[in-house]
Formats: sequence, C-alpha cells, structure tokens
Amino acid sequence: MIEVIDTERCTACDICVNVCPTNVFDKTDGIPVIARQGDCQTCFLCELYCPEDALFVSPFAEAPQAVDVAALKEAAVLGSYRRAVGWTDENRHLRAADRSYRLFGH
Ligand code: SF4
Ligand code: SF4
Repeated sequence: MIEVIDTERCTACDICVNVCPTNVFDKTDGIPVIARQGDCQTCFLCELYCPEDALFVSPFAEAPQAVDVAALKEAAVLGSYRRAVGWTDENRHLRAADRSYRLFGH
C-alpha cells in the first residue's frame, strides 16, 4: 500500500497521479496528496514511474504501515522496485515510449 510521498524529493510532476489505476492521488498546486490510501492495490506503478524515487509503496497490501522516511532513504529503499525490474538511470529515457498507463484512461 502506498505509504508516503517524500516532500524533499518530489518535484510535483504529477506522473504518479496519472499512472495510478485507482486514482489514489489528488493533484494540488504543488506536491500531490495521497487522498484515497484505501483504494491502493499495491501495484507499484507509481513507484516504478516516479522519476525522483520519491514514493514508497509498502509490500503489505492489507493495512497501512508506519514508515520512517529517513530510514527508508538511508537504506535506498525508495525506488528499489524500479531498480529491481531494470528501469535504471541509464534506460530511464525509454519510459517515454511506454504508454501502458493509458490502459487506465489517463
Ligand atoms: S511521480 Fe514522484 S516526483 Fe512526480 S509528483 Fe509523484 S511523487 Fe512527486
Ligand atoms: S501502488 Fe498502484 S494503486 Fe497504489 S498508489 Fe501506487 S499506482 Fe496507485
């Protein structure tokens, strides 16, 4: 379940808002807010697409977890799913060719 947006890293690009299939986030004049956490289906798409590694999705889908953002950053957990599936800084530009998020009507 989505747990946090790190306000130090987030650049308010709204990519997470657009890729989330269940409309968990709301746009604001700045950093998006997690408006409907209970609707998160733990798909990790937002973490995968975030260009700043500013999101943390807990692998526990059933209930929110308490998180220590500083500890997560220290352990390089933010963005770990992105790196694990091979979306690295070197091939980040290839994301522009991926339109899979349009499946969800955005
Ligand atoms: S994708 Fe990442 S940087 Fe962009 S608004 Fe969402 S959390 Fe912030
Ligand atoms: S993990 Fe999936 S469902 Fe949950 S907030 Fe991110 S994109 Fe939305």
